[in-house]
Amino acid sequence: MSQPARSTPIPSLPHRPAAPKIQLCPPAASPETSLDPQDWTGLRAQGHRMLDDMFDAMESVGDRPLWQEIPDSVRETMRAPLPATAVPLGEVHEDFLRDILPYGSGNTHPGFMGWVQGGGTPVGMLAEMLAAGLNANLGGRDHMPIEVERQVTAWMAELFGFPAAASGLFVTGTSIANFMAVLIARTRALGPGCRRHGLPAEARLTGYTSRAAHGCIAQAFEMAGIGSDGLRSTGTDSRHRIDISALRAAIAADRAVGLTPFMIVGTAGSVDTGAIDDLAELAEVAREEDLWLHVDGAFGALAILSPELAPRLAGIDRADSLAFDFHKWGQVPYDAGFLLCRDAASHRAAFAADAPYLQRAEHGLAGGAHWPCDYGPDLSRGFRALKTWFTLRTYGLEAIGESIARSCALARRLEQRIAASESLCLLAPVELNIVCFGFTGPDSDRRNQAAVTRLQLGGRVAPSSTRIDGRSAIRAAFVNHRTSECDVDALVDAVLALPV
Ligand SMILES: *Cc1c(COP(=O)(O)O)cnc(C)c1O
Repeated sequence: MSQPARSTPIPSLPHRPAAPKIQLCPPAASPETSLDPQDWTGLRAQGHRMLDDMFDAMESVGDRPLWQEIPDSVRETMRAPLPATAVPLGEVHEDFLRDILPYGSGNTHPGFMGWVQGGGTPVGMLAEMLAAGLNANLGGRDHMPIEVERQVTAWMAELFGFPAAASGLFVTGTSIANFMAVLIARTRALGPGCRRHGLPAEARLTGYTSRAAHGCIAQAFEMAGIGSDGLRSTGTDSRHRIDISALRAAIAADRAVGLTPFMIVGTAGSVDTGAIDDLAELAEVAREEDLWLHVDGAFGALAILSPELAPRLAGIDRADSLAFDFHKWGQVPYDAGFLLCRDAASHRAAFAADAPYLQRAEHGLAGGAHWPCDYGPDLSRGFRALKTWFTLRTYGLEAIGESIARSCALARRLEQRIAASESLCLLAPVELNIVCFGFTGPDSDRRNQAAVTRLQLGGRVAPSSTRIDGRSAIRAAFVNHRTSECDVDALVDAVLALPV
């Protein structure tokens, strides 16, 4: 079998002139306990097969059902005993193709509109493989993979109008990034002593968000030891954006009884309806009240890549911190959450610690004053930055922005089709890429719920359900870059064809 030629030879390592000649062990000396293959040629052939199978699966994703129920016999395959002895790679891969690949959650499928999830890309997949090959640990030390993460951080600082010295960190997702922002804001409010002493009884911290905020904000308050009672979820306006005067009133009321307001959490793209808070107004309130402004922009923040949508995010450059996901509208494969923080010193103040074995040096592997582990709770960290760097460079920001704008155009198309139908109605204004709608007439709650289940079981289009102002809604969120007008029409046609 002929192997494709390597595009560029791997450059040899530069040696310092004075370095002694490095004596390498001959290949035969590698220990028999090494997990590397005896037969690299066989591994190569198997590896190429695996890659090709995955390309095939991606290329034809729309031809398969979006989701199918897992047969008991297939589920049973994951109740196997501990694998004490070796199984050939090819056989394990066959199991993957038969038992795992066909039973995914469907978020790569063009008909997936159930939750705010990205569709992934072939480039992201390849980059993830390269990252696994490098097996880099991005907790710290001096190596180029960390420079890639710093590069993405610098790009994001520029994109969102943060100072060039802003800090950034890849994390699993926006849930954790939001939690970290609460910890940073808490440490800023109470001083670094709170890391040792915990929360003092007399300083009763209160934070502010709207009732449209994602549930992980309340959870972040719980995990931070503040308690979700310390989070005020103020009302929203008719477009599901935070009510600024209610926010001001809540802060004043808390101050009046001796509580300690410390942060505001704004939302750029709410999970139920895609609403974007007035971030400029929030920045103004935060400035006047000397509060930390964090923005949960899980999916919505990347709307900044679309010139048409970017003005909606005005004021985002004034946030103290911003959480968002590359794995949603950025289409980077899971997981790739990100936290951007205006003031790197405040960021480190919440997390940096010194352990003797993590001591920094001026030269060598332990070089560099600040390591990623100074910016979050993780020490060992994977190379999420690589798939993101590949995605941003390979597709380019313009194309990603266009795909985001197209998602919103699909939402508008759905809105029009609903308006044109007598049996359907909108349940929330269409702000961005999410449409909440349902049947008109009696018994609509039950019919909406039933419709979502029926469609999901059908395997062609999958919306989800939510509740809007106490009513059950069919919710279609357009995030996947593969979704087209044809999928929107398939959704409406399928809903209208359902029995009453
Ligand atoms: C998805 C989402 C989150 C949670 O992000 P994860 O990456 O799933 O942890 C938080 N806030 C909003 C608005 C979201 O859409």
